[in-house]
Amino acid sequence: MFLDVSALNCQTARMNKRLKYPTPVSVSEAVKQLNNGAVVAMPTETVYGLAGLASNDYAVLSIYETKGRPRFNPLIVHCADINMAEEIAEFPALAHKLATAFWPGPLTMVLPKRSDAQLSDLVTAGLETVAIRLPAHPIAREMIGNLGKPVAAPSANPSGKLSPTSANHVIEGFGGEVPVVDGGDCDNGIESTIVAVGSDALTLLRPGSISAEELASVTGAPVGASSSAEIVAPGMLKSHYAPNAAVRLNAETANEGEVLLGFGEIGANAKNLSPTADLREAAKNLFSFLRALDQTGAKTIAVAPIPNEGIGIAINDRLARAAADRKD
Ligand code: AMP
Ligand code: MG
Repeated sequence: MFLDVSALNCQTARMNKRLKYPTPVSVSEAVKQLNNGAVVAMPTETVYGLAGLASNDYAVLSIYETKGRPRFNPLIVHCADINMAEEIAEFPALAHKLATAFWPGPLTMVLPKRSDAQLSDLVTAGLETVAIRLPAHPIAREMIGNLGKPVAAPSANPSGKLSPTSANHVIEGFGGEVPVVDGGDCDNGIESTIVAVGSDALTLLRPGSISAEELASVTGAPVGASSSAEIVAPGMLKSHYAPNAAVRLNAETANEGEVLLGFGEIGANAKNLSPTADLREAAKNLFSFLRALDQTGAKTIAVAPIPNEGIGIAINDRLARAAADRKD
């Protein structure tokens, strides 16, 4: 078939004109924009984050507005190093143990907020606690390090939709309205583990690639599960991380009109999260494969069963929310 490349180029140029940020921006441009109170999408090892100065009400408000996120849902504050983190939160002994073992990395700790913390109240949605993480991605570290101040950064996608694991996902999701720094595909592909840290116990608020068992073995403290009534936040809403298509779980085959998202031997010839049944590979592929299948326009995505162990617990958590009734 003959492909008219020049026509295609003209069309792309026309589309690009309509987009404010059709292509990624540099780290120095991103830092300049953050300093001015603008929001910028940054790569992290979990998913891309929509960053804004955590001390700036206007920037934090822009994050909520850009995402269409309910304001009662607090944001995670991202720091470059432990000193920056200690300026905004109290660190009980258990928090120090966790920081030593897992930071920088995909662990968010919910800690008592310091009374002198330079944080917009919108970040914590008025709570006395603050959620903090030190991302491991070199570009995120460089951005926050150069800025010299913490950023608030939820996932860089419209609220309730699939999380972005590439710069293109962000450009698609916000229609090119938000500048993005391109750091390639995210290594983990699934949001951070969130743990509330008390003086002698931990509470798992969101499963992620760091498991409850790892948290317990590093600290020697018991790890409880949160009751869903306690915390109201997006990652804990029943319907979240949702594609446009319906999602049917634990499928062995695709029914008529469905597309199959395979795992291991199931769906060997379909889009497969990990043909070798490697859960880390599956986590990395989860959101981008759901997105690709969604773009086929199929009414339903049938998903093969995923073993509920290790990071499989986090994958099943996200899939259950993607499959949940969208009305509540
Ligand atoms: P997201 O930024 O979309 O990855 O989600 C942020 C998550 O952080 C929310 O779903 C909450 O579960 C959690 N979170 C943030 N701040 C707090 C806090 N102060 N207390 C409890 N959970 C929090
Ligand atoms: Mg999110």
